[in-house]
Amino acid sequence: MLKGIEEGLGRKEIARRLRALTYGTREIPGKIELYNRVASASVNRARNWGSLFSLEEAGIGTYIWRAVGDERTCSRCFYLDGMEFSTSKMMSHVRMALKGSPADIEWISPWPTHDLARDDYYIRTPLGREYLRGKPTSWLEDHGVGLPPAHASCRCTTTIVVS
Ligand SMILES: [Zn+2]
Repeated sequence: MLKGIEEGLGRKEIARRLRALTYGTREIPGKIELYNRVASASVNRARNWGSLFSLEEAGIGTYIWRAVGDERTCSRCFYLDGMEFSTSKMMSHVRMALKGSPADIEWISPWPTHDLARDDYYIRTPLGREYLRGKPTSWLEDHGVGLPPAHASCRCTTTIVVS
């Protein structure tokens, strides 16, 4: 603000700059936008990870990744939609995350990135980029892929198979 006044900017220009700082621009997300993303991911995590505790307690061995499936659903989520994951294997990642430092989440439950050129999804591991297509579910589970959310504004949930 002071900087704006010293530069002799008008009120509108100062407001525009403040708005850009707070909400960000299309290219550079601002703080509010980042906080919203963190909050949205945290709420999704709390809901989905919380429900895994219930599945574990109820002795339900597997669950299904469910994407919303509307026009806002991204390809990553469509890719994971319908995959079946082991409750106990994924719970071990949840427990690791709860014990670890917040930054550890990036490798405990990594978010897949879309490689447009290859039309595949990858995560970063100590070996570098590892692509997901063709990997067995057990590999995904071992690498922490299978715990919604898959990205900041992910709306995915889990469901169980009723036989
Ligand atoms: Zn999703």
